[in-house]
Amino acid sequence: MRALVLADYHRLDLVERPRPEPGPGEVLLRVAATGICGSDVHGYTGENGRRVPGQVMGHESSGTIAALGEGVDGSALPVGAPATFNPVIVPEEQAQRYRGREQHCPDKTVIGVAAGYQASFAEHLLVPARNVVLLGAAMPLHLGALIEPLAVALHAVRVGGARAGQRALVVGGGPIGQSVVLALRSAGVTDIVLSEPSAARRELVAALGARAVGPEDGPLAEQVRAVLGAPADLAIDAVGLSATLEGALASTALGGTVVLVGMGSPRVELPAFAISTEERAVLGSFTYSAEDFRDAAAWVSAHPGQVMPLVSDIVPPERAQESFAALAAGEGPAGKILVRFDEQGAAA
Ligand SMILES: [Zn+2]
Repeated sequence: MRALVLADYHRLDLVERPRPEPGPGEVLLRVAATGICGSDVHGYTGENGRRVPGQVMGHESSGTIAALGEGVDGSALPVGAPATFNPVIVPEEQAQRYRGREQHCPDKTVIGVAAGYQASFAEHLLVPARNVVLLGAAMPLHLGALIEPLAVALHAVRVGGARAGQRALVVGGGPIGQSVVLALRSAGVTDIVLSEPSAARRELVAALGARAVGPEDGPLAEQVRAVLGAPADLAIDAVGLSATLEGALASTALGGTVVLVGMGSPRVELPAFAISTEERAVLGSFTYSAEDFRDAAAWVSAHPGQVMPLVSDIVPPERAQESFAALAAGEGPAGKILVRFDEQGAAA
């Protein structure tokens, strides 16, 4: 099978590797498509220190079940069925303890992040059976690669307690900000403004149902009031810098909530009184629970047309290097790039 190896920083090699064999409790997935995540791009450049040379990255994928290891129930996970995988693996003996908050398990393994785990920028990968999530048969299979970022967004929206009738601000219109708009809408929130410097991204999020504003139009808080008619009840910062958090706080009503999901900087400075005397809550959000992930998979299976605008480009593995280089140089498209493994001569 073919796999994309991070041979060195700034270099992805397409190599031939033996197809892995599923062990007890494991499922072999045949990958249809894998999305390029911002964290993969930072791994490619070496700047986040969370990926290492020699690694096969990839954690946003869909495909089909190719083979089952010993003890896996073939009636629950039939060979040939469309599926995705939840990349967050909790050790089996801790599953009960972390049920409903799997992302809090300190011993978790994250597929695509863990250096020794061959992940999904490859034609096949192994996944524990309990992390496999079946997809609706009617949806275009490659769109299942959007479930993982959608699950990140759904979790952030749930952390923020979003509900119908609220006014919401999303800071940042990249793939996570775009997914947050869809997740807010799925929660019944329709009054959404999103701030984003790129005009191409603003156009994309406008098509998703958010009103988009840019920094050139004036201070964010004023624009939010102008567009929503009042400060936001909830802001979701999908960037994560001092300036974006400050903008989110200033644009939110007293007693409002700001969710920090973007990881733009390891340290930020905050206006203290916007939190203390004005009683705003700043809440962290990271990945998702197993339930969030399953709900995102069900939502995408039922609404493939709504996630379709999130895909800007689909490339074969031969062009992955070129796509990573463009994204690293800040020259990527407005939406997601998917690497498609299930076309032209994919070896069985
Ligand atoms: Zn990701």
